[in-house]
Amino acid sequence: MAAFANRDHRLNRHEIDRALLLVNIRQLGTLSAGRASGPRRRTELGDLGIIERGAVLCVSGKIVSVGKTKDALRDPWVRKNRKKIVEIDCAGKVVLPGFVDSHTHPVFVSPRLVDFEKRIAGATYEQIAAAGGGIRSSVEGVRKAGKAQLAERVLAALQEISSHGTTTVEAKSGYGLSLAAELKSLEAIRTAAAKWPGTVVPTLLGAHVVPQEFQDKPQEYVALVCEHMIPQAAKRKLAQFVDVFCDTGAFGEEDSVKIFAAARTNGLQVRAHISQLTRTPLKRLLTFSPASLDHLDHLDDGDISFLARSNTVDHLDHLDDGDISFLARSNTVATLVPGANYFLGLRKYPPARKLIDAGAAVALATDYNPGSSPTASMPFVLSLACTQMKMSPAEAISAATINGAWALRLQERKGSIEPGKDADLAVFDVADYREIAYWLTSDRCSHTVLNGQLLRNGAD
Ligand SMILES: [Zn+2]
Repeated sequence: MAAFANRDHRLNRHEIDRALLLVNIRQLGTLSAGRASGPRRRTELGDLGIIERGAVLCVSGKIVSVGKTKDALRDPWVRKNRKKIVEIDCAGKVVLPGFVDSHTHPVFVSPRLVDFEKRIAGATYEQIAAAGGGIRSSVEGVRKAGKAQLAERVLAALQEISSHGTTTVEAKSGYGLSLAAELKSLEAIRTAAAKWPGTVVPTLLGAHVVPQEFQDKPQEYVALVCEHMIPQAAKRKLAQFVDVFCDTGAFGEEDSVKIFAAARTNGLQVRAHISQLTRTPLKRLLTFSPASLDHLDHLDDGDISFLARSNTVDHLDHLDDGDISFLARSNTVATLVPGANYFLGLRKYPPARKLIDAGAAVALATDYNPGSSPTASMPFVLSLACTQMKMSPAEAISAATINGAWALRLQERKGSIEPGKDADLAVFDVADYREIAYWLTSDRCSHTVLNGQLLRNGAD
């Protein structure tokens, strides 16, 4: 039997601080790649790569070894250093890769309680927006808030999110809607991310809606996003992605394509909120986008690397069969956020089953935000995915881990428990992985490990 740890040097002081050994894991869901070479599709989603009585060794924020507990405890290196290693007995527990929440909006000040009551009384999303509620009602608070106040708010959200087992979070701006307030929002994300042990991927969502003062001149706002917000966010390295809300009442296809083009020019990746309220034909948008297949005849190296990076399109409540087969043939990840359907009281959910059966790469995320999905809990999203979208518990876990990592282009570092990847783990006080989606709103995550740093949660 090969050495479990396969290391020959003594731990230095820094490594001692950060060496962590999880043993006796009843079910260790590694999500290791197996035969999959891209995001998980079809039956690949159901394979969690489970090791029973498993063990994981993490050193200096990285996963070093994954295997059986008996091999770990026999390993000479582990035996020699055992007293110096933080050891967690996971008997009777399930360990998974930390969730990758690839879609959140954490930069806001207050919950939207008036909208909540209006919706209960029967108002629609569009009616609430037309009455000055919705996204625009969060704008005033963000514009008035100081950066430190926003950063504190974002940090509190990240801490709550990680207590449910999430270790990587995509965080969008989008409630500032002016150059200064969008950059302030991204700075708040950066400040909060520096104080949180997990990994944050920042996204500029200046194109969330057209703000009040540009109502009569929306093209000027699109120009502001393309010519100022995107270049400044890129120059100051405040964002990795540019997002656009392409839907009724927000931005049309043509504007979305302009925004995608500006993102590309500035070296940023693109993603879109799309087909949440009404359908946008995906092929047309993505074909007109800089990641267009129409460009294949005239590619330079930059084009090729851009094409190699997947986009993600999120929400997808309104798709037709053509959209689904287009997604199935593309590398674009379909990110589903059923928390929004639940909170908006919709009976209809995105067609997850059809997407998976057609071969599309499906991810799950919380869409954490004050208007339509105020939840920090990926286990709750898994529950919705299973009960409302008919995904199996294993499919939901794959969608919330490795496919979320693909949606953020972090698949080399995140989303599975394999040597060399970041030490991002979630420990659940359940005997079977299916219970994570089964115990509705019950918080069973006892420990979260973020880049090797151990957090004990309330459930322990
Ligand atoms: Zn969203």
